[in-house]
Amino acid sequence: MPEERNIKHLPLSYEGRLTRRSLNKIDLVVIHCTELPDLEAAREYGEHIHHTTTRTGNSGHYYIDRNGSIESWVDPQRIAHHTRGYNERSIGIELVNNGRWPDWFRSDKQVLTDPYPPEQLAALVWLLGELRPRLGNLHWIAGHEQLDKEKVSASNASSRLVFRKRDPGPMFPWQQVLSSVTLVPFPEQAEAQ
Ligand SMILES: [Zn+2]
Repeated sequence: MPEERNIKHLPLSYEGRLTRRSLNKIDLVVIHCTELPDLEAAREYGEHIHHTTTRTGNSGHYYIDRNGSIESWVDPQRIAHHTRGYNERSIGIELVNNGRWPDWFRSDKQVLTDPYPPEQLAALVWLLGELRPRLGNLHWIAGHEQLDKEKVSASNASSRLVFRKRDPGPMFPWQQVLSSVTLVPFPEQAEAQ
């Protein structure tokens, strides 16, 4: 029997202002982590207006808490801002995880150590299984760090460079997730930007 789960749709206040798209434009899912301690902090960040012309912010489509509960903040029919250069074709899934919080850009705090609990990973695999038949062209899966390799000055030493994005990071069990889904890792040559 299929696992019983549900997705709470809690749209961001600006969801209606995000650009519409046809679901067949989506061929990629990008895995993120929030780099924040909890879902509440992630929501606060997601609601923040970053793009003043469109009055929209940055967020994924789905958020998965550590206990495996799933929330939908942006409908897949809207383009969310989560991965520069890949938004139009992708779905963003955010896993609640500390990442480098609260020292994202400190050169001496670039090691990600917060584990992804089994409940959270099971919910991710379930969600990917749900999305696949709904989004007929969905084929690829990638981590945000793979698609954005920009470096920025470290917050503690401007002469040092650190990665702008490191999520979902080395704690994310790619082998385990890939063995449970039918999506294919995004090709390496496509990384060059
Ligand atoms: Zn990310």
